[in-house]
Amino acid sequence: MNPILLQIPLDLPDVQIEAFDTESKKGIIIKVQSTCKGTTCRQCHQPIDKFYGYGKEITLRHLPIFEQSVWIKIKPKRYQCPYCDQGPTTTQRCSWYDQKSPHTKAYEQWILRDLINSTITDISIKRGINEAAVEGIINRYIRQEVDWETIKSLPLLGLDEIALKKGHKDFVVIISGINEGGEKCILAVLPNRKKETVKIFLQSIPVEIKRTIQRACVDMYDGYSNAVYEELHGVEVVVDRFHVTKSYRACADNARIKEMKTLKKTLSSEDYAQLKGVMWLFRKSLWDLNEEQQIKLIQLFNYAPELKQIYIYREALTGIFNRPLSKSQAEAELNSWVEQVRNLKLDCFNSFIVTLQNWQHEITNYFLRRETSGFVEGLNNKIKVIKRRCYGIYDIGRLFQHIWLDVEGRRLFGYA
Ligand SMILES: [Zn+2]
Repeated sequence: MNPILLQIPLDLPDVQIEAFDTESKKGIIIKVQSTCKGTTCRQCHQPIDKFYGYGKEITLRHLPIFEQSVWIKIKPKRYQCPYCDQGPTTTQRCSWYDQKSPHTKAYEQWILRDLINSTITDISIKRGINEAAVEGIINRYIRQEVDWETIKSLPLLGLDEIALKKGHKDFVVIISGINEGGEKCILAVLPNRKKETVKIFLQSIPVEIKRTIQRACVDMYDGYSNAVYEELHGVEVVVDRFHVTKSYRACADNARIKEMKTLKKTLSSEDYAQLKGVMWLFRKSLWDLNEEQQIKLIQLFNYAPELKQIYIYREALTGIFNRPLSKSQAEAELNSWVEQVRNLKLDCFNSFIVTLQNWQHEITNYFLRRETSGFVEGLNNKIKVIKRRCYGIYDIGRLFQHIWLDVEGRRLFGYA
């Protein structure tokens, strides 16, 4: 019988395999030797190649093979300097590992890719590596604050908040941006959403980069808009569409909840039971419903005609934001919407109308360059995921690292 041979590249440059042990309980142990000759003297920095024996053997975790842990053992070569007094020795360093790390670089980058959209705990369990080691990897590769050197310009700035605990009023603020290449970057995590805190961050942006900021996309909170107006002169404040949408949809949803409570009391239990699942249909646009679903929704509207109006006016607002209007056209459309809603006495939208009037300039700035919403919506979805995973992370630096990994990690540690 012929044994089947399979060759797997070790993927480490300039090494030669000396021994191979598959019997160990720990996993697969591969002893290697560096094929590179010489090093540079740690004192005079001149190239030296006078061999001076081996240093203490080190063990480094490497990429697994068929789900088995792989450990690389290497005795680093040492060299003696013929130029310096007393001939000091220097240990050779290979490019594929870091002196401070117990893993190969290939292994660490693999773990970082794994960490994108995941958590330290998950990866620790999944990969059989302790949490402190995962944290060590994160700290070796990801800074706890932005490296301004990597950014040339920031046409768009985004300010958004996440609550660290459900129902908590403790917000941290995520500051993001789009760079000259149209790529998302995470710039800071601020410990709270006070105007002063935001201003201090904005002041810390290097002047050359500050000059390149054209727009700031914010939530409807004057701490943000005022910080931008005071610190970044001439920057256009845009309320991102995501928050506007959320605001008027919530009005319609509240009206539906109220109406359903009334219907529960007034309809026979048989009729009411027929409305089961109508909440999801009410939330969708008519175009996204099939015929059967449309009939069901119309049934609800027959019982509650005001909900029909609310639904129509909610969809009309979405329509306004979807259309390629100019800023002034959008203002006219929104004003006419407000007038109609008032005439029909659809009071559920009152709180939204107040918001719309307070923020009209910034809300309609969206129509100047509609490109912002995609960015903010995308980031918001990401933040939602991060939020779910980050309950209990109170360390701002750690949060920054996580968000950085999710937002930028794929580009830097991903496969493509
Ligand atoms: Zn030397």
